[in-house]
Amino acid sequence: MSQQLPIALLDSLQTVKGFNEDEFVQVHASGEQITSIRINPHKVFSIQHSMFNIQGEVPWSSNGHYLSERPSFTADPLFHAGAYYVQEASSMFLEEAIKQTCDLSMSLKMLDLCAAPGGKSTLLQSIISKESLLVSNEVIKTRVNILSENITKWGADNVVVTNNDPKDFQRLPGYFDVIVIDAPCSGSGLFRKDPGAIAEWSNDNVMMCSQRQQRILADILPSLKPDGILIYSTCSYSGEEDEFICDWLLSEAPDHLSSTRLQTKEAWQIIETNSQKHNAWGYRFYPDKLRGEGFFIAAFRKESVDHVSREIKFKNKPVLVSIAERQLLNPLVKTADSISFFKWKEDIIAVPANLLNEVFILQSVLYLKKAAVKIGSIIRNELIPDHEFALSNLATEELMSIEVDLPTALQYLRRSHILLETNYTGWVLLKYQNLALGWIKILPNRINNYYPKDWRILNK
Ligand code: SAM
Repeated sequence: MSQQLPIALLDSLQTVKGFNEDEFVQVHASGEQITSIRINPHKVFSIQHSMFNIQGEVPWSSNGHYLSERPSFTADPLFHAGAYYVQEASSMFLEEAIKQTCDLSMSLKMLDLCAAPGGKSTLLQSIISKESLLVSNEVIKTRVNILSENITKWGADNVVVTNNDPKDFQRLPGYFDVIVIDAPCSGSGLFRKDPGAIAEWSNDNVMMCSQRQQRILADILPSLKPDGILIYSTCSYSGEEDEFICDWLLSEAPDHLSSTRLQTKEAWQIIETNSQKHNAWGYRFYPDKLRGEGFFIAAFRKESVDHVSREIKFKNKPVLVSIAERQLLNPLVKTADSISFFKWKEDIIAVPANLLNEVFILQSVLYLKKAAVKIGSIIRNELIPDHEFALSNLATEELMSIEVDLPTALQYLRRSHILLETNYTGWVLLKYQNLALGWIKILPNRINNYYPKDWRILNK
């Protein structure tokens, strides 16, 4: 039996544009589940040869697809290789919001402030230019690991993962061109997907979330550049967390903002709303109107004011690799000419050369969980490669790779022993359908499996 939706929620939505109680209740009672994935444009694989039954494209996304059923993603090596991200379809509209408000051909500095587990960040990384920088932040320590794992699988070299409170970003006044706040919320938009969450819902929690959303926004706004773009989203239907926050942003936030209208197509069935006080534009996604879950998004531009940028002194100066180490790395790393290699304790990190300074600015004022791509360490003139390097798309053909079948790939991902017929000894990149899964080291009498222990598949 389906769980009753909270009466107080239904009552609060009666006058909200686009809300149709009968259809809303019915779609929740139907138990229908919608599965969608977003392909990683930087990892080439054949969707025809994958385990999916594609059932159409997410209309507002260039890489989003609906699936006819939910397969076991855990049993798909391509999932572990970062070939795609399993993401709810409505939230993929973030792509349109960004494309319509930003010039993506520019080199932008973007912040995804509430980023774990990484759905919005992987989307943002797919659409920014390779000269741009994405800072993917998660305040809750226990959630940073999964964010870091998903960013590593995505494989990009222009992302930095941080673990900071929104307030900490005030050390970077006027720094970001774009800030995305996918705010922690009461979560009613996900009731169809997760009916267990219905029992957790309360009006008090909605009010508490609304207060927290205002606090997060007030804390982060100083680090948005004048003329910069703020994208605000939630997966809640409650006006207190959506349009009310837009009104708050336009009248009470410490910085002056203006609301930006987005274009939608009629066929998409996205509902455009206006906030009560200031007519700010907002976009509501109802599961009874479109193939996606409940979602709200709005875009703002910060007004241009005279801005004094503050020079940030590096806490640590970049220590670049030696000439000999460079020579060892150059043939192993793609586009090495445009990459800076620096040392971070024992590790060598590869970062696009134009972003080296930015990484050190961030490192001086924030806690960096991960920066760009860890290549590994050099010991006695040999590179001990890191898992981040395997998943990064940066490894050249100089590095030995072996393509494996599905059972061997799964054995590898379970971190079990694998058998291969080869006379080669040394480091090998294991690939499935031409996408890297990770490293093994073949010794004369055995094969060592270097898949990260914490990431291994646990089921049999
Ligand atoms: N953007 C993510 C994605 O697409 O995968 C989902 C983000 S989830 C809706 C909100 C995130 O905000 C959670 O990861 C949560 O830990 C974080 N959060 C919770 N309290 C916060 C706070 N006070 N400030 C900033 N972030 C917070």
